[in-house]
Amino acid sequence: MERIGIFGGTFNPPHIGHIRSALRGAEALGLDKVLLIPARQVPGKQIPADSPTPEQRLEMVRLAAAAHPVLEVSDLEVSRQGDSYTWQTLHALQERYPGAELTLMVGSDMLLSLPKWQQAERIVKAAAIAVLPRGGRQEKNLLPAGVTALESMGAKVTVAENIPCEISSTQLRRLLAFRCASEFLDPAVEDYIVKNGLYHTASDWKNLPMDRLEQVVIGLLNPNRVRHVLGCRDTAVELAKRWGADTVDAARAGMLHDVTKALDGPLQLTLCRAYGTLLDDFSKKYPKTLHALTGSLVAERIFGENKAVVSAIRHHTTGKADMNVLEAIIYVADYMEPNRDFPGVEELRALAFSDLQAALKLGLEMTLVHLKNQGSEVSPESRQALDWLKRG
Ligand code: ATP
Repeated sequence: MERIGIFGGTFNPPHIGHIRSALRGAEALGLDKVLLIPARQVPGKQIPADSPTPEQRLEMVRLAAAAHPVLEVSDLEVSRQGDSYTWQTLHALQERYPGAELTLMVGSDMLLSLPKWQQAERIVKAAAIAVLPRGGRQEKNLLPAGVTALESMGAKVTVAENIPCEISSTQLRRLLAFRCASEFLDPAVEDYIVKNGLYHTASDWKNLPMDRLEQVVIGLLNPNRVRHVLGCRDTAVELAKRWGADTVDAARAGMLHDVTKALDGPLQLTLCRAYGTLLDDFSKKYPKTLHALTGSLVAERIFGENKAVVSAIRHHTTGKADMNVLEAIIYVADYMEPNRDFPGVEELRALAFSDLQAALKLGLEMTLVHLKNQGSEVSPESRQALDWLKRG
């Protein structure tokens, strides 16, 4: 009896996490082949408007699979109009491969939602379910409940062995925009993306007017960070008016200060590697603080910003000794923009407009207390900033 794995997804774009999981799953489950089936549209999942067409996604999956004989690519869902429903796909496959044993391969993130998919009962009757771990902190806690829920519907569930590769297409699209995605892409897929200018690889984002800059940056942020960034930009402009700094630079630095914040620690390191940036020991140990550095690199190389803007972004998290007015404004605006809410924020807000250096000092001191309570180390730059302000 032929044993066939079914690996569906948006593949926007396909990455090495998809391919490695499909290959490892095939081996662990003893499958004869795995069908990679890009969806035309996923019910309940918005495919970003500036994405490639379904046909282009299909072509990229073909390129990613080409070197692996166990992987086959199917256009079943791309060529069917409307939302792609798994039960319809399974039905079509049962007709195409009569008597075959079908296994639906799903990433661990899909597990909890699967019982809510349309015709879920029918799905688990038609195919066994193989879960492919993706990694991540929550996964270990969530897996058992997901497996139990499916088993209670009568599903045959296996958790396949997988060496997780913690990348998602959403993150990869950001890396592509920042021109540092090679680590996670098959070279043929990357070539196709670049040749066709997909995922903004051919966009010129240098010196964008503010309304367009806002639109582009919002597309790169996690949605829950957008209000903060707009608040920081507007506050930075107000502070620039108050303290006689360049309001355009303030607006642009505020808009871009968190442009790489959506990348997690390991991806911050990926960007630094791709840009050839050497890191100090503190940054290697705490890659989460790296978004200030990577944001400044992206502001310079991708957005063509001037030195003042780049430097204000570079130092917005830790501060440094001898900060200029724009650097101080971005540091303080980030701390007390209207969406921030913590004890002492009102004092900081008032101080920002009456004594900028005092506000900077208060911000740094509050950070130090916070880090101490968390048991985290303080960056050398923050210490130097405080020493400078105390001397001041
Ligand atoms: P997005 O970020 O757009 O949600 P994605 O990277 O999760 O995309 P999909 O194309 O939607 O990719 O995923 C297809 C299938 O591959 C899903 O079952 C998903 O759980 C799985 N998958 C995606 N990335 C990985 C990975 N890094 N490791 C293991 N499985 C993965």
